Amino acid sequence: MRMLSEANGSNGSIAGAGALLNILRDGQARTRAELVQLTGLARSTLAQRLDALLSQQWIIPTEEAISSGGRPAIAFTFNRTARVVLSADLGATHARVAVTDLGTTVLAERAAEVSIDRGPEETLGWLQRTFEEMLTETGHRPDEICGIGVGLPGPVEHSSGRPVNPPIMPGWDGFPVPEWLGSRLGAPVLVDNDVNIMALGEHWAARPESDHLIFVKIGTGIGCGIISDRRLHRGAQGAAGDIGHIRVASALGTVCRCGNVGCLEAVASGAAMAAKLSADGVEAEDSRDVVRLVRGGNTHAVQLIRQAGREVGDVLASIVNFFNPSVIVVGGDISEAGEQVLAGLREVIYSRSLPLATQHLTITASELGDRAGVIGAAVMVIEHVLAPGSVDRSVSAA
Ligand SMILES: [Zn+2]
Repeated sequence: MRMLSEANGSNGSIAGAGALLNILRDGQARTRAELVQLTGLARSTLAQRLDALLSQQWIIPTEEAISSGGRPAIAFTFNRTARVVLSADLGATHARVAVTDLGTTVLAERAAEVSIDRGPEETLGWLQRTFEEMLTETGHRPDEICGIGVGLPGPVEHSSGRPVNPPIMPGWDGFPVPEWLGSRLGAPVLVDNDVNIMALGEHWAARPESDHLIFVKIGTGIGCGIISDRRLHRGAQGAAGDIGHIRVASALGTVCRCGNVGCLEAVASGAAMAAKLSADGVEAEDSRDVVRLVRGGNTHAVQLIRQAGREVGDVLASIVNFFNPSVIVVGGDISEAGEQVLAGLREVIYSRSLPLATQHLTITASELGDRAGVIGAAVMVIEHVLAPGSVDRSVSAA
């Protein structure tokens, strides 16, 4: 019994290794002396925690010469290559898959035409094979995977990672995505809806200084991801930000794919615009065709996309008053039409929102573009795996 409690005691002293790693995650190499000063830890405690992190390769030693001409001192730095992350952004009709390091550097990436309506087993089977091929390509072993992040184009219950009544994903309702993929690839799986991961990716990579950010995706559908106080706000069940089904006056005569009448998505999404164009005899199947037509100068398509910008802007104007973001980032296929869609959005938001809320508001296109999703899915995994509590568990389990 006594031995056991002593063993627990020594594990207890490793708790705190995660907090130490958190300090080193900025990439700067630091010596023992610097870390003692920074943390206030006793030298012996610090040594124990460094050893724990070294044994799991979360950090690596580097030699740094001391400028005063003394002996070179060992410094420690976060090891971004300690593990790899598998990430996927599965859209309605196309998918993007990546292998990244712990700093979201993309080591391998693939884009493919994959329809989500083929159902979960076929789609996830394809994803599993693709992940395995890409791991081989980057020269990594399965035991180097620290986690898998997946974005899906529909509502996902955050606690279970299961899709809930996703309108464009037949067969996926309640499907145990984390268990299915996790048991085959041997790593924890986190699932979220595609807009949430895009918001995470954009915030991490392009706008880390923004405390309050809204990421609006305009593609086949419309949705938004909310960063509040630098954290993703998912709401009670994970349904926050579903602005595509807010009622707008211009859509009152139109039935939405959700079954209701009057949804924003039914008039302003890529799918709605493509349908309108083809009804008027212009060949367009999806949002990418709409963008192609806009870029080619088709006046009907340009008018439609500007009007869609105004419709989305109308809903966002209320959201700006309610939430007071500092940045609105517009992504998704339709955002690739650039200024044409932003112009309509800005016009309505600046004229309809409160002056105090728009005083310092930036409205801009996504910097990451169609990579926002895979970067964000990787961020979701990295933040989970490198949370101090998870790191403490990884070193005490070793
Ligand atoms: Zn709807």
